[in-house]
Amino acid sequence: MNAPRPRPAVTGLAAPFWQSLADGQLQLARCATCHAYRHPPRPVCDRCGGDHFEWVPSLGTGEVSSFTVVHRPTLPAFADEVPYGAVVVRLDEDVFMVSQLVDCPIDALAVGMRVEVAPTECDGVVLPLFRRVDNAARPTTIGP
Ligand SMILES: [Zn+2]
Repeated sequence: MNAPRPRPAVTGLAAPFWQSLADGQLQLARCATCHAYRHPPRPVCDRCGGDHFEWVPSLGTGEVSSFTVVHRPTLPAFADEVPYGAVVVRLDEDVFMVSQLVDCPIDALAVGMRVEVAPTECDGVVLPLFRRVDNAARPTTIGP
């Protein structure tokens, strides 16, 4: 039997984040005063010091900002999964998230790869994993 996987803290300030994923959507905390995103959720805004925030749906799209291939498991629970890719996704809201890609061989990982969120149940918790998308899906930039 495999060792148990670590579980994220799904309570407190982050509870709405995990609940949104369980509902099949990615939501982000945003400052109610200056509208800066706060991920992971924190009690005070880094930009303006505001202490009120709201939960808003994310576009759920972004690109791989960085990645590594894990060859040695960081915990015994992941021993059967190596090698696997660990990615840093930069969401289109300019929020960074560490995750993994589903259905993507490690030799296909690339910086700049367009991805979209793929909420995936794992041991009773829905995680914000990502999947590759066609580069044509990149949003159009508006303005200067
Ligand atoms: Zn703020």
